[in-house]
Formats: sequence, structure tokens, C-alpha cells
Amino acid sequence: VPEIILEQPVPREFQPEIVKNLYWLDGGIESFAFDATDGRRLSFGYRKAAVPEHLPLRVKQSAERLARSLRAIPSKTLFELKPANAGCAAPYDQLVQRGWVRPAAHGTHVYRGLFLDLFLALDAQFRQAALRLEAEEYKFPAIIPMETLARAGYLNSFPHNANFVCHLPEQAEAVERFKDRMKSSSPEGATLSLDGFCTHSATALSPTVCYHFYQTHAGQTLPADALLTATALSPCYRYEGKAMRGLRRLREFTMREIIFLGEPTLVQKRREALISLQRELLERCQLHSAIRTASDPFFLDDYDKKRVFQMSFDLKHEVQAWLPEEQEWLAIGSVNHHQDHFGKVFGITLPEGMPAQSCCLGFGLDRWCMTIFAQHGFDPNCWPEGVRVILDAHRRHTAALKTAA
Ligand code: ATP
Ligand code: ZN
Ligand code: MG
Repeated sequence: VPEIILEQPVPREFQPEIVKNLYWLDGGIESFAFDATDGRRLSFGYRKAAVPEHLPLRVKQSAERLARSLRAIPSKTLFELKPANAGCAAPYDQLVQRGWVRPAAHGTHVYRGLFLDLFLALDAQFRQAALRLEAEEYKFPAIIPMETLARAGYLNSFPHNANFVCHLPEQAEAVERFKDRMKSSSPEGATLSLDGFCTHSATALSPTVCYHFYQTHAGQTLPADALLTATALSPCYRYEGKAMRGLRRLREFTMREIIFLGEPTLVQKRREALISLQRELLERCQLHSAIRTASDPFFLDDYDKKRVFQMSFDLKHEVQAWLPEEQEWLAIGSVNHHQDHFGKVFGITLPEGMPAQSCCLGFGLDRWCMTIFAQHGFDPNCWPEGVRVILDAHRRHTAALKTAA
């Protein structure tokens, strides 16, 4: 196992963010581990016996660059809540054992039972909060044009996370050849049958919710003093490579967003309301949590520049929950101020000709649910009252549906 000695120790709170990015250096890297007591020592496991000659140096340089960048502009904490939650051991394994969460394709899961009840119950709260902010409801597709992703800037900043959609060529011979191959291969070998067949496609699985909304309003001029407000619950897809883990980092997850688009001062005011909303829900659920300024997971090369920009203007606020087992913070939501970025690239303007501004809030439903189990355990009777009220409201609603004539 190659071990690298960094020039300076990396504080524990930076380690997960650094590791998540380092996986992209080489697909042969299986795992990373910082030494538990000495933050200068970083070892990694490699798939093949022979580690490429230059890899250790590249790991060292990249880790140091990321650490420098994280150190250069520390995040600011707006809010921290520290109830004495007992926490429980191996929440993911327990959820799987109870059959409430079942791993499906790598990075995806089937939910049922209490986990699904909580998932739906929480979303009912998030939806209610959105409706109280007068949001219009939308249902967006899972598929998004690559053109929209490119326009939004996604394919420059996060190309490594994209999930492209492909299909067979529209050609009878090719389809026949594919069918022949399928007949002669076992179900386990089915993936190989795609080799040489996939046609490039102009679509991808949507990595987030709000791009659809900006695309829907592309080229429009908004009325004076406009503030468009929208909400939607959508599946989101991000290829997270080796960093995919349990329910903490998924390839398919579900996000509820609340989106504001319009006049700068109105958008700015609403952003404050979104941060308060996050805070209120954390308090109701009594989660050991914090709201901090943060940056997006940009690809390695761009990390420094783009982080400096986001952090200098406090553009991203991350809602982080404490995972007792991992002794780690995890983002369960965020509030993002995009300034006029999307207004510009999607040509959405205000009457005076200026580009519209936007901000959005995202709730990561999967992570919210997992955190409640991880911090409050598996007996709903022992959950904080706020969570029980949310769950009971959902259960009453479901019961009423069952008995309705
Ligand atoms: P992270 O820093 O953990 O990669 P992010 O900064 O990429 O998260 P956002 O783009 O702000 O996350 O997305 C909003 C929310 O969506 C996150 O706060 C999180 O709850 C959820 N989310 C993002 N990526 C994933 C994932 N791969 N699996 C599960 N939930 C996710
Ligand atoms: Zn968004
Ligand atoms: Mg983040």
C-alpha cells in the first residue's frame, strides 16, 4: 500500500472533501486512508499490483493543492445545533437488515417501510414550506439535453459527474446483431453486449433540479418586479465513482428544490428566507447540524479558482449533518445564490435589459432520512417530538387514503 507523506497535516474536517476529489486521478485507485493520528500520512490502495510510477507524486501534489485551497478560505459557520443525540451503530447496515433499504444497481436503492414513510413525510414538510413561499409546482423529466447542461456550465465544471444516455443505432442490422449477441450471452454478460453499439446521444440524466426551470424560461423577459418561485421533487443523477458509498453518496438520489428567479433585491431577500427555512427544519428535527459557507465539488484542475469565487461572495451555504459513526459532516442540503449566472447563460432578462438573478434551495431527501436514523436511532417513539409530528401527519394522511370510500 503506497503511503504519501504530505508537507503539512490535513485537519480531519478537510479529509473527506480531499479524498472525494483524489479518486478522479486514476481509476485504479480503490481507497484512500488518512492516518488516524497523523494527518500528514495518506495511503491508498491500488487495483493492480504495479502502481503507475508518477501516481504517488500526483496524489501528493493534488492533495496538497486541495488542502491549500481549503485552508486559504475557511468556511464560515452561520449556525450550529448540538443536541445530545445518542447516535446508533452502523445505521446503513441496520436499514438493510430490516429490509427498508435495499441496494439495487450500484449507487441506487429501493426504499420501503419506515424509511420510505420518513422520506415521504419529510418531503410533505418541504413541499408545504415551498407552497407557503408561494412556489408554483413543477414536474421535470429525469432526462436533460446536453445543450442545457453545457449552457448551465455543468459540462465545464463537473463533467466527471455526468451520466450520459445512449441507445442502439436506428438500424435493423445493428439491432439484429445486438439481439444475437444477447441470445448467446448470460444475463451477467449483458453489459458487454453494448460494446461497439452505443450511439452517442444528445442527452444525459439530470444532475440537479433547477436547470430545467431556467431552460423553461430561456429567452424570456420577465415583467417588472418579477419574482418567479418554483418547486419540484426530482430524481438527480451524479456519477461519483469510487466515492459512492451506502446512502451517503449515491448515483441516483432525490432532491426537492425551491427556486427563485427575478429581480436582484427580491432574490437576495428570498435567499435569507431559504436559509432560515433550513434552520427551522433542523431545529424541529433536533439534528446535530450546521450551516456553513461552502464551495461546489469542481473538478481537480479548476478547484482553486472556482472555490475562491464562490467562497469570497458567500454564494453557497451548505447544511451539514453530523454522522456519529463516521465522525464526519455530510451535506444534507444547500442554499445557492447564482447571481446573474443562469439569467445570462439562458438569456432571461429583466425589463431594463439586465439579466435576472436566481437562487435555489436543495433538500437531499436520501441524506436527510439517513441522518435521522443515524442520529436518533430506529425507534420512532424515541425520536424528537418534531420528527414524530411530521411522521404522524404523513401516517394519518396515508390511513385516511386507505379508509376513504
Ligand atoms: P457534496 O459536497 O456532498 O458532493 P454537493 O455540494 O455536490 O454535495 P449540491 O450540489 O449542493 O451538493 O446538492 C444539493 C444536495 O443534494 C446536497 O446537499 C445533498 O444533500 C444532495 N446530494 C448531492 N449529491 C449527492 C449524492 N451523490 N448522493 C446523495 N445525495 C446527494
Ligand atoms: Zn438548484
Ligand atoms: Mg459540497
